[in-house]
Amino acid sequence: MSVTQQQVLEALTRVKSPDGVVLTDANVLSAVTVNDGKVFFSINVDAAEARAWERIRAETEAAVRGIPGVTAAMVALTAERTPGAAASAPSQRHSHGVQPVSAHRPPQSPVSPMSKQSEIPGIAAVIAVASGKGGVGKSTTALNLALGLRDLGLRVGLLDADIYGPSVPRLTGIHEKPQLNEARKMIPIQRFGLAIMSIGFLVEEETAMIWRGPMVMSAITQMLRDVAWGTLDILVVDMPPGTGDAQLTLAQNVPLRGAVIISTPQDLSLIDARRGLAMFKKVNVPVLGIVENMSYFQCPQCGTRSDIFGHGGARLEAERLGVPFLGEIPLHMSIRATSDSGTPVVDSEPDGPHAAIYRAIGAKVQEQLQGVIAAA
Ligand code: ADP
Repeated sequence: MSVTQQQVLEALTRVKSPDGVVLTDANVLSAVTVNDGKVFFSINVDAAEARAWERIRAETEAAVRGIPGVTAAMVALTAERTPGAAASAPSQRHSHGVQPVSAHRPPQSPVSPMSKQSEIPGIAAVIAVASGKGGVGKSTTALNLALGLRDLGLRVGLLDADIYGPSVPRLTGIHEKPQLNEARKMIPIQRFGLAIMSIGFLVEEETAMIWRGPMVMSAITQMLRDVAWGTLDILVVDMPPGTGDAQLTLAQNVPLRGAVIISTPQDLSLIDARRGLAMFKKVNVPVLGIVENMSYFQCPQCGTRSDIFGHGGARLEAERLGVPFLGEIPLHMSIRATSDSGTPVVDSEPDGPHAAIYRAIGAKVQEQLQGVIAAA
């Protein structure tokens, strides 16, 4: 029997606010999304009360998970001045300048559910794959880089934090929902030897679009913390594109060991990439390097290379900025086709030239994280 919104609301009447008000009467709930046993909503509270609410959030999530037929539940705690405001936020999918996390509280406020200092147990290094704008191949690169790292013998996870357009379900062909373990933590989906989690496994893309900045952080925190990742050498986080406040907060609050910036050779994208660099520098996350994606066109028939975008800009930019240049990936039909069919090129063509490129990029990343991985 499928779960209804009514059932969820009924379960919520058994949870009370810190002041003892029944949750459904407390005027803090966003719209409740129920989709095929997956439940998502947020509790929107005043920033000053956020700490007191964290326990209630966990209780609420547990209450929802207890409803027969619920296969996954995610309750995000969002802290804003105006309770209830998040529910009607407009779509932001194409606006990378997302809603400010808050104009009235700095991103490092104690409201943040996770402090940078708190590492994630079992994970040696969390790294971000970021881009200054969408459509540069960030997610494709994140997945293939994760696979390249896997090929180097590392235990690797992939967290799709691109909440505005989670593409990992499409890139991996995963359409199942994560199950819960005895500790009620979500078990990441194992595919291609990677532990994979995406907000897209829990909510439909359309639902993901209405998220606001503070919800992004809250949801990503839970995907980092409430997922049974097991023991990993590296967790690759596919960041939301852009360099807005939501991304900045993420970069600041996720315990990142480093960031890889994806850029295309076009000038505009390089300007955006520079913004990405500046963002990570600002929050003291080391930039592991720049990858130039769609660097040159390689004809699938004859293999001839054409530098249609005036290739090489990212390498020069990396040199100029003093950050490592990690490699260039051609614009190639088989990278696109394998990405879009859920069979990433490093896995489906392991002996091909593209897999070798991603592995070489992975090796440069591994080299820089060697100390951290070895220590763990
Ligand atoms: P982003 O995460 O930056 O929005 P995606 O990884 O979703 O970008 O890639 C956007 C599109 O470009 C997808 O259709 C993907 O298959 C394609 N793509 C990415 N990298 C390459 C490449 N090197 N060669 C050909 N197509 C690519």
